[in-house]
Amino acid sequence: MDELNKIDVLFVGAGPASLAGAIKLKQLLNQKGRSESVVVVEKADKIGQHNLSGAIFEADVLDELIPGWRENPDGFVSKMLDNKVIKDELFFLGGNKAAIKFPGFIVPPAMRNQGNYTLSVSKMANWLAGLARGLGVEIYTGFAASEVMVEGNKVTGVKLGDKGLDKEGKQQPNYMPGDILEAKVTVFGEGSLGRLAEEVVNRFNLGNGRNPQVYSLGVKEIIKLPEGNAFGSGRVIHTVGFPDQDVFGGGIIYSMGDNQVAVALALALDWQYCDLSPQQELQFFKSHSFIKRLIEGGEVVSCGAKTLPEGGYYSLSKLAANGAIIIGDAAGLVNARKIKGLHYAIKSGMAAAEAIFGAIEKQDFSRRSLRVYEDLLDDCFVMKDLRTARNYRQVFARAGKAQLFLGAPLSIIQQWLPFRLGTRPDYESLKKARLNRLYDGGIDRLTAVSLSGTIHREDEPSHITFSDPGRCHRCSADYQCHPCAFFCPAEVYKFEEDELILNPVNCLHCQTCRIKCPHQIIQWRVPEGGGGPRYKAM
Ligand code: SF4
Repeated sequence: MDELNKIDVLFVGAGPASLAGAIKLKQLLNQKGRSESVVVVEKADKIGQHNLSGAIFEADVLDELIPGWRENPDGFVSKMLDNKVIKDELFFLGGNKAAIKFPGFIVPPAMRNQGNYTLSVSKMANWLAGLARGLGVEIYTGFAASEVMVEGNKVTGVKLGDKGLDKEGKQQPNYMPGDILEAKVTVFGEGSLGRLAEEVVNRFNLGNGRNPQVYSLGVKEIIKLPEGNAFGSGRVIHTVGFPDQDVFGGGIIYSMGDNQVAVALALALDWQYCDLSPQQELQFFKSHSFIKRLIEGGEVVSCGAKTLPEGGYYSLSKLAANGAIIIGDAAGLVNARKIKGLHYAIKSGMAAAEAIFGAIEKQDFSRRSLRVYEDLLDDCFVMKDLRTARNYRQVFARAGKAQLFLGAPLSIIQQWLPFRLGTRPDYESLKKARLNRLYDGGIDRLTAVSLSGTIHREDEPSHITFSDPGRCHRCSADYQCHPCAFFCPAEVYKFEEDELILNPVNCLHCQTCRIKCPHQIIQWRVPEGGGGPRYKAM
């Protein structure tokens, strides 16, 4: 192995969790005059392109990571400070016209956002990457980590994916075999549904006895409103009740500055409808007269989708193994009650850095040494918050339509339950039930893909395969339709006369298909580095 590929600490994925971790670790190392290498690898072509969030950010966590960050603001920070939330509302939307505002006193404190900031997480990643590089962190983009390297009972690094293979897997003239990166500690911060983090959890039995993780899918658009629009700045609106009261989730619309608003819909993936199309639901949501008025005259300038792990406290696995730590969304550190994970991601990266710094000083990279990370999380606001929401998602999954009226009391009662409520994998909830949505307006899926900037090399091997393709046909019998042709927000799965036409080049990397396929036969792996969405401001 090339000496250059021997790294002290490797972060996989360049989202806020990894970048915060790399910053914190370099700060600690630099203070002690140490020169251990800290490297971040990212599958996107450029930093931020695979980062999407409905980010309404609790910014206090930055005070600890970057003291004085509010002083002398420029660029990203200045814009973020301009987008402080000053007006925060929750509406019930009914039918196609009704919009009833919940009085402030019944909005649970966890859902209040005044004083937080709206931001683009793609831009935040770029800001953090600049700070990390300034401290000496090496960041490499366009490299997808495709395998966990293990020796005995220890993670020793990752293998990067090969580049330059054709559809059949044959080497083309530009073929580049993926390097093996060997690290004393590998930190997995790949985001929601991180494949390698999942491999570590399974390989080292870190998830034994925990609830199955459950997810939501968020579909999002950024809309440029006309000059002089009435939406205003510092405004956040959450909605419940529309488009469908049987699907847990809700809508959000918030200002992002420069006459832009973000509109998004988060839908729990335990929906029962075999013909539910999240992208179409977002269009239907925008057609509600209340939302329509708010975005009147606007132009959609960007689209995207991502999943969100919502199982919370009882779905968390152990988060450290010999030579490995899991952080951020990949670890499941999301609070469904607050609909937030960004500040937990940043804090988890920082806690990982502290644990790794201690391990470097002791030269002990075993789980026993790295589990300090779990203790640090346990002692800070991350686990405190997640513990207070520990049965949240489970209670709402059981409440059905009653959640709309009992939301506030359920949100409080769930934390007093003296036992753990279980979860079921999301695909198990799919039934023959049909939504039969006939709405046919707005941004269709292919337009959304083009507005996400998604690009993959046309002749690379498909990153989506089927473990048992024959079972695809069972869907026609079981559901009288192919659910994947509906639930994929990028129209990757299309059927003509019951024959699948697969378009992996459209893929937004949300991995909904892996979770929602009722036969669990869809295998998704990271495509060649550099491919995927090219979000600029999501
Ligand atoms: Fe998401 Fe799967 Fe569709 Fe890609 S193919 S966009 S991962 S649902």
